Amino acid sequence: MTDVTRLSAAELAEALRKRELSSVDATRAHLDRIAAVEESVHAFLHVSGDDALATAQDVDARRAAGEEVHPLAGVPIAVKDVIVTKGMPSTAGSKILEGWIPPYDATLVERIRAAGLPILGKTNMDEFAMGSSTEHSAYGNTHNPWDLDRIPGGSGGGSAAAVAAYEAPLAIGTDTGGSIRQPGAVTGTVGVKPTYGSVSRYGLIALASSLDQAGPVTRTVLDSALLHELIGGHDPRDSTSIADPLPNLVESARRGATGDLSGVRVGVVTELQGEGYQPGVLARFQESLALLEKAGAELVEVSCPHFPYALAAYYLILPAEASSNLAKFDGMRFGLRVEPEDGPVTAERVMAATRGAGFGDEVKRRIILGTYALSAGYYDAYYGSAQKVRTLIQRDFAGAFAQADVLVSPTAPTTAFKLGEKLDDPLAMYLNDVATIPANLAGVPGMSVPNGLSDDGLPVGFQILAPAKADDRLYRVGAALEGALQAQWGGPLLAQAPELV
Ligand code: GLN
Repeated sequence: MTDVTRLSAAELAEALRKRELSSVDATRAHLDRIAAVEESVHAFLHVSGDDALATAQDVDARRAAGEEVHPLAGVPIAVKDVIVTKGMPSTAGSKILEGWIPPYDATLVERIRAAGLPILGKTNMDEFAMGSSTEHSAYGNTHNPWDLDRIPGGSGGGSAAAVAAYEAPLAIGTDTGGSIRQPGAVTGTVGVKPTYGSVSRYGLIALASSLDQAGPVTRTVLDSALLHELIGGHDPRDSTSIADPLPNLVESARRGATGDLSGVRVGVVTELQGEGYQPGVLARFQESLALLEKAGAELVEVSCPHFPYALAAYYLILPAEASSNLAKFDGMRFGLRVEPEDGPVTAERVMAATRGAGFGDEVKRRIILGTYALSAGYYDAYYGSAQKVRTLIQRDFAGAFAQADVLVSPTAPTTAFKLGEKLDDPLAMYLNDVATIPANLAGVPGMSVPNGLSDDGLPVGFQILAPAKADDRLYRVGAALEGALQAQWGGPLLAQAPELV
């Protein structure tokens, strides 16, 4: 058999079902791969080999006994460290949570475990998911497998790099402003931000509660559909969880893979291209549009006039919510506790010392911004105005979706930049998310599909957006584009990435 780490999750699942391969062997192969490449990639903060092998063994035994198991049972997965896992470290990339072992599983982790997917470990990320490069992790950089001197995107660079480096066939990310889609774009992987409320947020260490959404990170569109169906659906423990069942995502991916998009109206967003986008990114975007048209889709130009204000609104709403969500890290309840070096040990002084030592610069910057935006006297000018802009962006989407079934744009304006290049320039870092943020502000689903290499030989991503609760459209269009592109390339884009070992 070929190297099992190169198989997609769907292919692995099929081999497991036919019992051509055991889950123990599949899990071992991925743990070996992790051992071989982690020194150069550093996608993981914690590897849970024993735990993963125990799950694998259990699934193999159940299969051998003829038990009916979940289609993805036995397929290993990596989980972003912002998601709590019972008995397994969950730091959200922060020193302040070092040593904290959660006493419970997030709902999506519970579903993953119940379905029998071995959890390989927890992936690196920007501290509390604030960033676009994973350089804000308190535990060191993750490197882009395409070029180890470059960023893997962020905040979920660990999940994307793990999947791109064949350390895991599946991973979970979270996307508050693009942290699944932008890492997907710069590592040549598929990333999906589901409709807000369609994947439970119970057990996510919250960044901005009105924007956060967990979703799949994979190498193929079909794999994302399989994982999305497993983790999605109503959860009574999340008060914003949508009660309706998910649309049929796997079926839509399979339908898209036939290559026929006739009757689908694809809206090209005027405001999400042009200035600030790398020429190679724009060139690949145009080529992908031509492929969609060839598949029978109708292209329409749509305008979303308020999108240029999305970034500014997001960087008020996100810090406001984050400053409140992060108030619970006080040195009393979780992880780190630092006592003041001199003077009395009062609760307030322990909190100040713990937060001072435990949070990194970006987190402190956003807490200060957020509390300022929410303070009396400034609330209306900043937070209140940002919320109004949010409404205008939602209206832009409503108008655009009246003219088109899906909207499309490049996922990120540039390819992966060099480690350190934007670290001292927060605004330059924030600009990476111009194209991804509108979806979070409106709660609509989005997908990034790898659509080629820019002039610098690095991967770029094609973003597809759909109306809320119509995530199935992403899969149909995404799978059709993926099929058309791979026919040109003669295989997956990742096959063109350099070998790591
Ligand atoms: N890069 C964006 C930020 O820094 C998005 C983060 C995210 O989606 N978690 O806020």
